[in-house]
Amino acid sequence: MAEYLLPDTLAEAGEMMAAHGRSLAIMAGGTSAMRCGTCRGRRGRGIACIECAGPRLVSVPNSAYVMGIQRLGLDRLEADNGVLNIGAGVTMRNLAASDMPAALCQAARRVGGPALRNMATVGGNIFARQPYGTVAAMLLAMDAVPVFTGPDGSREVALAEFYTSGAIAAGLLTHIECPHPQGRLVFVKCARQRFAGPTVITVAVRIELETGGKVAAARIALGGAGETPLRAEAAEQLLIGEKLEAPAIEAAAAAAKAACAPADDPVASAWYRRRMVGVYVARALEQAGEGEAP
Ligand SMILES: Cc1cc2nc3c(=O)[nH]c(=O)nc-3n(C[C@H](O)[C@H](O)[C@H](O)COP(=O)(O)OP(=O)(O)OC[C@H]3O[C@@H](n4cnc5c(N)ncnc54)[C@H](O)[C@@H]3O)c2cc1C
Repeated sequence: MAEYLLPDTLAEAGEMMAAHGRSLAIMAGGTSAMRCGTCRGRRGRGIACIECAGPRLVSVPNSAYVMGIQRLGLDRLEADNGVLNIGAGVTMRNLAASDMPAALCQAARRVGGPALRNMATVGGNIFARQPYGTVAAMLLAMDAVPVFTGPDGSREVALAEFYTSGAIAAGLLTHIECPHPQGRLVFVKCARQRFAGPTVITVAVRIELETGGKVAAARIALGGAGETPLRAEAAEQLLIGEKLEAPAIEAAAAAAKAACAPADDPVASAWYRRRMVGVYVARALEQAGEGEAP
């Protein structure tokens, strides 16, 4: 049985992490961490559940200490001087109802059902096993920077680097900073059921257009298309200097499809996911191209 720790301050949390090291698991809403431990690795017809399939989650019941982060004041949402500051403990429900960019709120609304959104946090979503990480994919398209604190002080690392460097055990995530997004933001999710359907793939796009409607900057982030949320950088490059019209959109969708490395799981096959990446990247780019060019 794990001992549950509930620090009141970040300093206290730091001391607990220093004292217990890897035998301490951080728990926020517990919607992934608890479930991982309780399903006992098998589900239904002997298929590993989504959480258990991955190496990245800390299994709460297997840790000697579990540290809850509810009292640390990590539930703030602020926008200051063009920088969005999103607390790691902000729930999906509160993010969805906030005045943060509409596509980010929409991504939060597409995480599970209402009960889950009351508990699941933005911080937990950064660590979520794919194909979860719906909000994380949106944050990736927004060039977000998670800020961690640990026994050695605080450090920040771009979300893209966090995922590619494998620095997953980076301490306690306190908040996420991101520049107020320029340009057009679009979020689309492919699921077999619209209401609370588990993610097949998600696509988050940020496009900046210059005068005349050509693409000046592009971000295409994919969820459910690899081991972590990932950016389709080759697809982004193909869009630069192009108008968001059929030839450029088709080329970018094909490049995103080629770049992804999805997995089979109980929700969808890798084959289906790859196909949906092509379809949904094209759909997101079409939406981003709608309306008056600058
Ligand atoms: C039925 C169901 C449906 C779901 N549907 C979706 C969906 O549609 N889309 C989606 O994206 N996800 C979905 N999820 C997955 C999950 O609920 C979310 O990813 C959620 O955001 C996890 O947040 P949490 O606060 O519950 O994290 P926890 O379960 O508490 O923690 C998850 C992991 O993150 C780590 N962690 C959490 N907070 C911190 C922190 N501040 N610093 C360091 N490490 C931390 C924990 O140590 C743990 O390893 C679903 C889950 C369930 C059970």
